[in-house]
Parts: sequence; C-alpha cells; structure tokens
Amino acid sequence: MFKNFNDLADRTLNGEPVTPEEALQLLETSDQDMLDLVAAAARLRREHFGMTVKVNYLVNLKSGLCAEDCGYCSQRLNSGAGILKYSWLTPEQAVEQAQHGIKGGASRVCLVASGRGPSNREVNTVTQTVEALKEQHPGVEVCACLGLLKDGQAETLSDAGVDAYNHNLNTAESNYESICSTHTYQDRVDTVERAKGAGLSPCSGLIVGMRETDEQLVEALFALRELDSDSVPVNFLMPFEGTPLAGTWQLSPQKCLKILAVVRFVCPDKEIRMAGGREMHLRSLQPLALHVVNSLFLGDYLTSEGQAAKADLDMIADAGFTVLGSASDDASNADTAAVPEPYEKVDLGLEPALRRRGAGTAVAPNA
Ligand code: SF4
Repeated sequence: MFKNFNDLADRTLNGEPVTPEEALQLLETSDQDMLDLVAAAARLRREHFGMTVKVNYLVNLKSGLCAEDCGYCSQRLNSGAGILKYSWLTPEQAVEQAQHGIKGGASRVCLVASGRGPSNREVNTVTQTVEALKEQHPGVEVCACLGLLKDGQAETLSDAGVDAYNHNLNTAESNYESICSTHTYQDRVDTVERAKGAGLSPCSGLIVGMRETDEQLVEALFALRELDSDSVPVNFLMPFEGTPLAGTWQLSPQKCLKILAVVRFVCPDKEIRMAGGREMHLRSLQPLALHVVNSLFLGDYLTSEGQAAKADLDMIADAGFTVLGSASDDASNADTAAVPEPYEKVDLGLEPALRRRGAGTAVAPNA
C-alpha cells in the first residue's frame, strides 16, 4: 500500500503500476482529501499530456432503431425516450455535420451508428464518408463506432483511412449481464481485439453509475488496462426516462472526480476523456476534472444536448489549458481559429436534454 497520493504518483511515474487494491483505496478517498488526490493525478496527466486538451466531435450517423437491449441506452429496443430516430446519414450530410465540430476545434471526429453491428454495405457507406472527410480535412483523425465488427470489417475501415475504433467495455464482466442480454462482454472484447488487429487505434471505456460496486469499477478499469486501449472515454450514466436505468442516480460530483483520478492512476499515459453525462454529474467540478483528464467531446452527444460548445472552449481556456492542435498549442499549427458564436446555454436540469439539433434535423449543430 502507498504512504500518500504523491508517493503513489512518484511510483507510477517510475513505471510501477498501481494494484487493484490501491485503486480501490483511491476510490474510497474522503471528500476532504479529494483535492490531494486530484493534484497527484494531475502530475501524471501533465507528464504525458502537458496542458493540452484533445477535443473530439460526435456525429450520430444513425440514431435509435436498435434491436439490442443495453439498459443504459436511449436508442435500445423498446426505448421510451423521445429521442431523434433516423437511418444512415449520407456521406455528404455526415461530412457537413463533422465540419461544424472541426471548425470548433475538434481534432478527432467520431462517426457513430446505433445497432448491434454494421453490414458490409453500411461499412462501405462509412468508408465513403471517411474518404470525403479526409479529402477535405487530411489532418483530422477519424474514429468509427459502429458496434460489433465481423471478419474483415476492421480491415476495410483501416484501409479507408479510419484511425481509431471505439467500442466500450462499459462495465465489469461481473456486471455485464445486468445491463445487456443481447450480446456479451466477450463480444465487446473481441471487437476491440479485431480493431487492434487491423491496426486501428483502440478506444474503449466505461459508463459509470450503472449500479456497479466500487470493486466492479476497479475490475472494469483493470480490464481496460489489460486491453491496452489508447483512449479511455469515461461516461457518466444519463438515466433517460423510458430506459431500465431511469431513476438511477448513484454519482455525486466528488465521486465522479475521484473516479477520473483513479482512471488516471490506472492508465497514466492514456487519453482519458470525460464523456457523456459530465455536465449533469461533474457539474461545477468540470474545470477541476481537466487537471486529470486530457480529452472531451465538444458540444452535443448522440441523443442528448451538452453544454454550449463555446462554454466548453471557455472552460478549457479559463482553467489554463489549450486545445490540442489549436494555434495556442505549440505542438501543432492546425487551424482552429474559427470558433463559432455560442448557442444559448441549455438548462440541463436533472434530466438529459434530448438532442433536437445537428444530425438528423434541419437545425445547426452545437459546435
Ligand atoms: S448501446 Fe448500441 S447496441 Fe446497445 S442499445 Fe444502444 S445503440 Fe444498440
């Protein structure tokens, strides 16, 4: 066991990984000691990522209409959430949406589609989108998130220029059956391995707050470390009305911050992203979380609205960080000067604000 957080940070910086028992002990940090934990995790963040924040932008290529039953998902079979539902965007529509995020400073575009997994025809639609996007924005990274992959599909995506593939483990293997019955935890691991095998950068993370215990959270985190995912998105459950996990509120802002710090200790050199649900769960602690994570999604999520994109960019600047690839990030000269005017701030209240702008609508996106 470690003497204090800084001692553990020293050890981690010297290449000695934390153990599951130590991770559990970190998760149990008191609120009084929380800032010391954050300060120690921030040392690891700065060692590997300096003061940069990677900005990612989601484009929901296909929304709702899914036959799977993931209990947390507003797009699931028989979901009663009043989300936007539409089938595949054309490559032109998808590129148009992505450009809003790129102008807002995103260096990675995440092309996401609901469903168990794509047909080969759907993969071809995605490759056309990627080719068109890369032609206009060769410096932008593209991550695909299309569900479970079949033989050859990861290679097709890689050949088309896709850089990364996202497929989240979401929760511990020991908790998986409680959140989904239509596919298995192992199915998810297999898809991440297929993506890795095709040379795609693996992106795999969590949804926390799904009634898992701290022990299960640690179990999931060490599974992600074993998977050696390059980026680790941490989503905080948005308990949509009309889904089985509606009314599940087990997170406090302090707990969310501690979870992010523990993720940093377990995966010190990985891109850790505060992802969906950060606004409603971290609330005013979001700027503090930037000292631990080094990545976020700009603007809206797949089926819900995030805070205004301008508020995200202001938060990054106000906390003393720079957007990776922006003019103020010395490491790159990418053009991100064209920050659009902000949308009126969305009142998120306690419920997820259903997305009513961007992909699948005639309304301009939040970017
Ligand atoms: S997470 Fe994906 S596979 Fe599961 S219900 Fe939602 S859209 Fe379908």
